[in-house]
Amino acid sequence: MQHIKNYINGQLVEPVSKSYLDNYNPATGKVYSYIPDSDEKDVEIAYAAAKAAFASWSVTSKDQRSKYLLKIAALIEKNLDKLALAESIDNGKPLKLAKTVDIPRAAANFHFYGTGILHYASHAHSMEETAINYTLRQPVGVAGCISPWNLPLYLFSWKIAPALAAGCTVVAKPSEVTPMTAYLLSEICIEAGLPAGVLNIVHGLGGKVGNAIVSHKDIPLISFTGGTVTGKHIASVAAPMFKKLSLELGGKNPNIIFADCDYDKMLSTTIHSSFSNQGEICLCGSRIFIERKLYDKFKNDFVAKTKELVVGNPLDDKTRVGAIVSKGHHEKIMSYIKLAEEEGGKILCGGKIVKGAGELAEGYYIEPTVIEGLAYNCRTNQEEIFGPVVTITPFDTEEEALMMANSTVYGLASVLWTQDLTRAHRVANLIHAGIVWINCWLLRDLRTPFGGVKASGVGREGGFEALDFFTEPKNVCVKLS
Ligand code: NDP
Repeated sequence: MQHIKNYINGQLVEPVSKSYLDNYNPATGKVYSYIPDSDEKDVEIAYAAAKAAFASWSVTSKDQRSKYLLKIAALIEKNLDKLALAESIDNGKPLKLAKTVDIPRAAANFHFYGTGILHYASHAHSMEETAINYTLRQPVGVAGCISPWNLPLYLFSWKIAPALAAGCTVVAKPSEVTPMTAYLLSEICIEAGLPAGVLNIVHGLGGKVGNAIVSHKDIPLISFTGGTVTGKHIASVAAPMFKKLSLELGGKNPNIIFADCDYDKMLSTTIHSSFSNQGEICLCGSRIFIERKLYDKFKNDFVAKTKELVVGNPLDDKTRVGAIVSKGHHEKIMSYIKLAEEEGGKILCGGKIVKGAGELAEGYYIEPTVIEGLAYNCRTNQEEIFGPVVTITPFDTEEEALMMANSTVYGLASVLWTQDLTRAHRVANLIHAGIVWINCWLLRDLRTPFGGVKASGVGREGGFEALDFFTEPKNVCVKLS
């Protein structure tokens, strides 16, 4: 069976401990490869390599850095099929999704920042004849990048690409649950000729490797995407060390559907925004609020469409809902479905474990689930489930919809469906979220600020915001006379 390796100082290496963790295929529930069980010793070696590489990478021209990133993007595109298959097996997501979304987006991330850095400029502030100020933007140093399991290469590269473009070197940790494409990325970086130590990938557990990165006294910046509880812990360690922090955390996103929406477009998009990637996208809308006069029609049509979704083998072209990423997460989602029933919810469809056939018999499958009849402020409607489970709730007025939408501790993304432009802008202005989609979902322009408010995070990724994050501004004031 394959043993994944760490990528440190340009080499594929074993963990210092020589011990490995099991890596499961969620479609079968079987171990199919092994992951380095690295610890702070590996992080220290990676840090030393990154620090040494920083001396030259930080002064490598933007043109040259751009060329490396574009080469990595091209190699990701060239290896699309291999990477998509690896992502599907590692994560349980439908192969089709990995081929059309995850891997193309990972290539786009490198492409975007490989070109974006060429257009990144800093400011100058003239004091007329007295003086001129200009701002240098200098790479911060060795960046610590930690990413989750739901969109493995997509989110891993969303951090690494801007960090490298900005001139930082990186010590990165992918989720131990889905390490495979990060490993394949290290092979790609070697093929692209990326200088040794510029990117270092250390595999292993959050409590060991993640913690060693976050608490490392000489890593001045942490870019983290993951759960809110983990984010809170990371902030408590990093903030007293005055580290720069970007935290992209959990969500409990509302979809608000007004009766005047473009119904067919809304219905098909709401199926995607509910169940894509088994509902394991931080941007999925898990609380659906429907104007009462549309409620019954929506309920019947939505449930009928949900029942049509094929659940099963991620590698099968017909599959729309694959396997849940891990046994532990499968149990967590099922416990929330039980809680929803205890809280008085009525399961309109789904709610059960799906048993696969043959080698899929031990896989982690759940029927896409629609629940109604819950109070907006019950636990099921307030806590992040992160699975193929949505609740539907009617509303009478715009104010009521907004009150319910804004009632959670989260504020990541939101979706509005209406043909009334004035109302769309008014509600967009009042909703507590970092991202509002009007009459669409997951339409992404990589130049836009990406992130959440309240317990959904601190800071923004995307566009020049990420390059600002990975650089430190320094103002230089020149007296003219
Ligand atoms: P976790 O917070 O459990 O883990 C995220 C990463 O942090 C993993 O690599 C994990 O390692 C690591 N980690 C865990 N503990 C520590 C620690 N003490 N110190 C440093 N690193 C640590 O999140 P999940 O992987 O379960 O991802 C799902 C969550 O991510 C959901 O809440 C989802 O909403 C959120 N998310 C947010 C996004 C956004 O843009 N706002 C986008 C995508 C997901 P290990 O895997 O070994 O535990």
